[in-house]
Amino acid sequence: MKNRFPYQEVLPLIKLLLDPKRIVITTHHKPDGDAMGSSLGLYNYLLAKGHHVTVVVPSDYPDFLEWMPGNHTVIEYPKAKEQCKQLFNDAEILFCLDFNQPNRVEEMEADMLASKAIKVLIDHHLHPQAFCDHTFSYPLACATAELVYQFIVSMDDKTLINKAVADCLYTGIMTDTNSFRFETMTADTHRTIAGLMDAGAANYVIHENVYDNFSYDRMKMVGFSLFHRLVMVPEFKTAYISLSQEDLKQFKSTTGDTEGVVNLALSIKDVKLAAFFYETPHLVKISLRSKGVFSVKEVAQAHFQGGGHRNAAGGKSFTSIDDAIKKFLSILPDYKHELLK
Ligand code: 5GP
Ligand code: MN
Repeated sequence: MKNRFPYQEVLPLIKLLLDPKRIVITTHHKPDGDAMGSSLGLYNYLLAKGHHVTVVVPSDYPDFLEWMPGNHTVIEYPKAKEQCKQLFNDAEILFCLDFNQPNRVEEMEADMLASKAIKVLIDHHLHPQAFCDHTFSYPLACATAELVYQFIVSMDDKTLINKAVADCLYTGIMTDTNSFRFETMTADTHRTIAGLMDAGAANYVIHENVYDNFSYDRMKMVGFSLFHRLVMVPEFKTAYISLSQEDLKQFKSTTGDTEGVVNLALSIKDVKLAAFFYETPHLVKISLRSKGVFSVKEVAQAHFQGGGHRNAAGGKSFTSIDDAIKKFLSILPDYKHELLK
């Protein structure tokens, strides 16, 4: 595998991290397993290296990620704006993980960009914007957590990968590859996973914490989604699920409860494209997934102000949920050729 962190490029960081620094790590809005896993993995590593580190996130995140080592120190920007502003101000180094454009941190963008810290981007989304001093962008990487592992190794600090670092990075890779099954999962990534297990990552505990940790209401919501809200569009090999605010309220839905619902639609035989629409007070959030070469990133970018990866992307709509679904159905004929291939 090509060395993603060549010595000349990490050398300035090796020098910078020789003595204790004030460091802030941040990631995208509504952080997922990779966003939190890569951030807390890097946090635990930098802590072991002797730095003063804080993870600041632009919004809340799912409860099933709260078991991760270091979670109790994470600061959510909406709950402590002044404190976060101060942290950005005081930081000497700012790591931006798992996002490619500053607007992915939403209302935190201005305070983050105002920071005079040396900014380092580590990410696997296509076409990063140039807002950092050091940009490590590798769209072929399966997860930002995989890149953080390679970054630590290139810093010659493999021995600092303790159990806390390993548990977090394992989580990031596991969640972004849908449990090691996507095409992005390479033999090298499996070797990385082996390295993380050697360092103490408890695979069975992590799987249980993340995947077997749902509330009763959440399971009922999944059943409801499949029974009442799943629609097949066989002529385009497409399936979609939609949940209104009323539906979500009925199941006392909280952040993270809807994660994975889109994959249920994708797991139907012959479905190549799956969509999930859910209504929030201000907008409709859309998750898109595909099998094979069909690119949902293109669909998200062209029609839903979003982006992502070929097989997993997302976006939003400021219309009603019904209009968002209508729009989605109206664009399917444009992709008919690729969907029926
Ligand atoms: P999810 O459907 O799980 O929310 O997001 C899947 C992937 O799509 C994320 O990893 C992210 O790369 C991308 N994504 C989701 N929502 C947005 C969005 O609003 N804007 C952009 N640029 N990417 C998004
Ligand atoms: Mn990711």
